[in-house]
Amino acid sequence: MGRGARRFIDDLLAGRRPRSFAASAKDAEEIRTAIALRAAAQAAGSWRLAGATLVVTLEPCTMCAGALVLARVARVVYGAVDDKAGAVGSLWDVVRDRRLNHRPEVIAGVRAEECGELLAVFFAARRRTRTGPGEPDTAAVR
Ligand SMILES: [Zn+2]
Repeated sequence: MGRGARRFIDDLLAGRRPRSFAASAKDAEEIRTAIALRAAAQAAGSWRLAGATLVVTLEPCTMCAGALVLARVARVVYGAVDDKAGAVGSLWDVVRDRRLNHRPEVIAGVRAEECGELLAVFFAARRRTRTGPGEPDTAAVR
């Protein structure tokens, strides 16, 4: 992994807006799984992120789960389960479908309670600021 990708991830994990990430203010408020994947791919210079681990507060949706499989991400770690739209073990299990030739390892429920609280705060703030649709995934790829 390149220095840019590492710095991006360090920023995300530290809760900072990534320096290497040119995004709109709206995007900065909603750093999502898809955005993190795209940025990691840009920083790594490849859409394949073999060996990478995605760390995310909320269980990814079907779109993100599909992207994780296509990017050949090695591992998905998430906190809170998304009963309404989760696609990594709850409502669906896209990433572990046996018909796929790549199935990331899944570690679910890591600090689930804290992640749930983080998401509740995020949603409350978004309702106040009306920044529009998007996923509340605070995500990082490393
Ligand atoms: Zn998603």
